[in-house]
Order: sequence, then structure tokens, then C-alpha cells
Amino acid sequence: MMTNSKRIAVVGTGYVGLVTGVALSEIGHNVKCVDLDSSKVESMKKGISPIYEPKLEDLMIKNFAEKRLDFTTNHQEAFKDVDVIYIAVGTPEKEDGTADMKYINSVCLDIANNITNEVVVVTKSTVPVGTNEHIERLIASNTKIPFSVVSNPEFLREGSAVHDTFNGDRIIIGSDNEEAADIIAEINKPFGLEVYKTNLRSAEMIKYASNAFLATKISFINEIANLSSSLGANIEEVAKGMGFDKRIGSTFLNAGIGYGGSCFPKDTKALVQIAGGSNHKFNLLRAVIEVNSKQQLLLVEKAKEYYGSLKGKKIAMLGLAFKPNTDDMREAASIVTAEQLILAGATVVAYDPIAISNAKKVLPDAVEYVNSVEEALKGADTAFIMTEWEEVKKTPLSLYEELLKDKTVFDGRNCYKLEEATNLHLDYHSVGRPDILRREVLV
Ligand code: NAD
Repeated sequence: MMTNSKRIAVVGTGYVGLVTGVALSEIGHNVKCVDLDSSKVESMKKGISPIYEPKLEDLMIKNFAEKRLDFTTNHQEAFKDVDVIYIAVGTPEKEDGTADMKYINSVCLDIANNITNEVVVVTKSTVPVGTNEHIERLIASNTKIPFSVVSNPEFLREGSAVHDTFNGDRIIIGSDNEEAADIIAEINKPFGLEVYKTNLRSAEMIKYASNAFLATKISFINEIANLSSSLGANIEEVAKGMGFDKRIGSTFLNAGIGYGGSCFPKDTKALVQIAGGSNHKFNLLRAVIEVNSKQQLLLVEKAKEYYGSLKGKKIAMLGLAFKPNTDDMREAASIVTAEQLILAGATVVAYDPIAISNAKKVLPDAVEYVNSVEEALKGADTAFIMTEWEEVKKTPLSLYEELLKDKTVFDGRNCYKLEEATNLHLDYHSVGRPDILRREVLV
């Protein structure tokens, strides 16, 4: 056991909480994760991760076996004699776009009612600027035990969350209490990442500003892509040419059918609301959100333009998760796309390597599910590529040509090189690149 090992509780075992708990135990701390959801806790105790995230389950099993990691539904048990409590519960979007604080508020009361000694409370959840001060007040008004508050926003990406935790670009530690900030910096030392200390409000803003900037980059490149395809330019060449400029950078310039997931959609909307609360109309971010909503439906628009009507068409939807290597379906483009296709009279047969059970909870009931790319393509008229899973990218375009009745593909993630389509008897539509059409369709 490392000498500086701390006793830590992590509240919430979702994508952030479980990864945080597992990673902190892996670097030698003693971690107890607490979640209200008893089925999650039971499953973790049996060695089954409730979420799909590469490498997570193996590390979870290892640290549980080595007794540095445990799970409970009981806050009293989790908070007994701990040095630090991480808050990693959800902050979902409310109908008006603001962040819902109900889980945060209830954790504050759980903390106040159950701590047995002085603790540092660390907020990992993404929370509006000023929330950590609210957390401080709420806990303080319900306990006499001393505590301090630190904002430590999370930057992991779903699909590579474990990798990101050990190889992230920075750790932001916001606090108005230097000693508490030092304790959290010390806890994170074994990760060997750059630590940047700020005040509480700056740390909260860094998280929203980072997500808003990344979402802006995506909507920007998608607008350039849409313009490129109507002007005869190729977005891949355009993005590559832009990316040579170090001020722009070459990453996050992939055109596609927009962003989804549990963070960018809700955090951009929350920041617009936060700005509104300060009488600031965040026009740029409003436009980013609007562009993304339109972009998620790009394949439906393209297919309607190509076919005239989608009535009676059978569409193979490849990939459902909002991005590869995750089972997370929150705000996935596949949801609105499937809804619109069914509304237009089409039928949808869907495949995803991991996300089908989550997809069943959010896609229209009429969607049919199959167990492979090939099964989805067989008997379908056309294919919509929604997620750039490795398995999808490895499927040769010639298989689409062989199996699809209409020999037409709408690729929302630019999975294939245009040359591959050029050599086939296939109509291939992608994002921001010229359509490749069979000769007979052209004339
Ligand atoms: P999630 O919805 O996957 O998990 C939240 C968990 O908290 C659930 O299991 C829920 O049962 C549990 N919970 C709620 N109230 C509780 C309570 N009082 N006590 C114990 N458990 C409780 O959420 P997530 O995706 O892990 O996100 C958590 C936070 O981190 C959010 O604020 C999110 O914006 C932020 N974040 C998420 C990501 C991501 O990629 N998912 C990345 C960075 C930041």
C-alpha cells in the first residue's frame, strides 16, 4: 500500500464515478463507491461493470479482489471515517436547458447527515458556476463537522475513459482553500498529469468552456462540410489543410452527423442558460446547438432528396451509440434519425455491437434489431452509417453492394475512402464529400 493512501468515498457509479473509483483504487487508495441503484451495486460486487467502457471491468475486478475497492448502497457505511468524498452524480438537463441540481442537493444532505470526521468534498460532476459555493452552504447548514470543498471537473471521454484518466491533458483543481487543494493534488500525484489550480468558479467555468469550445469546433467543421459538398470541395482535404495551422490544430475536425452523448448537448444548453442568468445572450453557442440539431438529421434529408419518398423503404442502421466504444445512447443521432425515418413511412433494422439493450429503451418500438452488420444489410434497401465502430469500418463496401437491394449507402461518419466506392456498382453518399453515383443514375 502506498504511504499517502487515502480513504475515499465516491458517490455515483456512472461513467464518471465508477471510472474515478476504479482509477483511484488502482493507484493505491482505499475506495468505497456508493450508488442508490442496488442493481448496479449488486452487479459490481459480482464483477460485472454496469457500463461498457474498455478496460474498466478488468481493473474493477482486480481492485475489488485486492480489497482496495468496494461498493455499497449505504451512505452511512460509505462515509464512515473517510478523508475525501467525490461527488459524481448526474446533472441532467431540465426542460428549459438548465442543469438539474436535484441529485447534487440530495448528496449534500447525505454528506451532512453521515460524515463522521473532517472531510474534503470534491465535485467531479459538471455543475454551473457558483454551485460549489452552494454545496458548501448546503452542507454547512446541516452539519457541525468541518469540511472543505474542491471543484475537480472531469474531462474523460466515454469510450476511452480509463485511458483518459491515466493519460489526460490536465487535472483542474479549483478551491478557495489551499490546504484542501493540496490534498487533492497529492491524491492525484500517481497519475503523473499536469495539475492546474484555480479558484472554485474558474474551475467550474473551465469545464463548460472546454465542452462549449469542442462542440463549436464540431458544428463549425460540419457547416464547412455542408458548404464544401455544395461547392465541390472535399471536407477531408479542407480539414487536413486547416489542421496544419497549429493555431487551429488537426484534431476534432471530423465532419459527420453531429455530436451527441451525455455531455456536449446538455452542457452547451446549460451554458446558454448560465449566460442568460447573467444577462448575456450567448449567440455563438445558440448557433452551435442549432447547427447540431440540423446536422443529426442530415442523412434523413439526403435520403429524402435522393429517393423523393422514403415510404416502404427498409433501412439498415449501422451503429446506434452516440460514438464508438460506448453503450451510451444519450442524445445519439440514431434516436432522432430513427424517429424521422419511421415517421416518413420507412422501416428500420438496426445493429450495434454493444448498445442494443440501451437503444431499446430510447428508439421507437417499431425498430427491429439484429446481431450483425451482415444481417442488417441482408434484405434492406439502403444503409445509414450512424456510428464509426471499428466493426463497421472493417466491413468492405463491396458487401453493401452485394447485399443491399438499392445498392445505396448514406455514411454519416465518412467511414470509407471515396476511391473504394468509385470502383463499385454502388451509390455512396457521405458528409462534405462529393456523392459517388452509379453511371445510370447520373444520366
Ligand atoms: P450517470 O447518470 O451515468 O451516473 C450517475 C449515477 O449517480 C447513477 O448511477 C445514479 O444512480 C447515481 N446517484 C444519483 N444520486 C445519488 C445519490 N444521492 N447517492 C448515490 N448515488 C447517486 O452520470 P455520468 O455520465 O457518470 O455523469 C456524472 C457527472 O459527470 C455529470 O455531471 C456529467 O455531466 C459529468 N461528466 C460526465 C462525463 C461523461 O462522459 N459521462 C464526462 C465528464 C463529466
